[in-house]
Amino acid sequence: MFRAIMISKDEAGHRVALSEVDQDQLPDGDVTVKVQCSTLNYKDALAITGKGPVVRKFPMVPGIDFAGVVEQSDNPEFHAGDRVVLNGWGVGEVHWGGLAEHARVKGDWLIPLDPAFSPEQAMSIGTAGYTAMLCVMALEKHGVMPESGEILVTGAAGGVGSVATAILAKRGYTVAALTGRPEEAGYLKSLGACRIVDRADYSAPGKPLAKEQWAGAVDVVGGQVLANVCAAMKYRGVVAACGLAGGMAFPATVAPFILRGVTLAGIDSVMCPKAERIEAWRRLAVDLDPALLSSMIERIALEDVIPAAERLIAGTVRGRVIVPIA
Ligand code: NDP
Repeated sequence: MFRAIMISKDEAGHRVALSEVDQDQLPDGDVTVKVQCSTLNYKDALAITGKGPVVRKFPMVPGIDFAGVVEQSDNPEFHAGDRVVLNGWGVGEVHWGGLAEHARVKGDWLIPLDPAFSPEQAMSIGTAGYTAMLCVMALEKHGVMPESGEILVTGAAGGVGSVATAILAKRGYTVAALTGRPEEAGYLKSLGACRIVDRADYSAPGKPLAKEQWAGAVDVVGGQVLANVCAAMKYRGVVAACGLAGGMAFPATVAPFILRGVTLAGIDSVMCPKAERIEAWRRLAVDLDPALLSSMIERIALEDVIPAAERLIAGTVRGRVIVPIA
């Protein structure tokens, strides 16, 4: 038997509990992993609270990412004792995930854990941090360099935003951090933000084109904020859009795209090809100051995951929440 967060849905509705599960119930897969650390991402919080249609098969163990050690493998690429990390691939959505003591998955979904990281460090980064790296890589791919101008990071005090701010600052970019929590200004500056932008300035419907301010942007908020960010991009600026913390809608006009040549680069971490994932983790080992990670994390036990999910959805969590398990 082992412990797992378990989500079920039946006539009685959505239920979630820390449960004892039989090893025999683990789903199909060719690699069994002893989970050493998992995390609580925004998507996990939507799944646990039932506030978003993340889980597509019940019962489900949530947890879209984990780091751990291979216990048993029928996959030639992995052997017992190998350190591995997993992000996405529908794990925690359609296949049992990482908020449990054991996980069984397809070896194709695993990547070797970069030797630079302990399992806890890897999960301090987690899917949020790996997505932040994908966003930075997208800005670079589209030619946004430190000398191009200021970069705006939205939802800056959250998981993706904190890591994006830290990476961009370490790479030499000038970062403005947009937040709804002015009390986090000191924290955001400690990560490398040069100035704080009030979320309220971007929350109301704005003009199709605003004053040109940003050479690049990493957006986790979506909704009206993303529309206003697009309107305030400099000529040929690039927005890497990865989130919907402020809403799924996109109430924008085409003006920034057709009059300023702005690029809206969509970022998906779930089905991202393996080579790009490995490159993102390699870059995280180089471009993220590990000393900053400890200021970004809150450690919780598996039994505290359910209340923490409520806090995360309420937007009151700073940085990342990690769940050491071993
Ligand atoms: P967090 O909850 O840690 O951070 C989200 C931040 O957004 C909050 O801290 C807050 O920042 C801001 N925010 C929250 N609610 C609102 C609101 N109503 N309006 C405006 N801003 C708000 O989540 P993560 O960083 O883990 O994830 C952020 C987003 O990115 C989520 O939507 C998530 O689903 C998405 N995501 C997408 C991935 C992909 O593959 N595309 C992968 C990972 C995440 P502040 O207080 O500073 O304003």
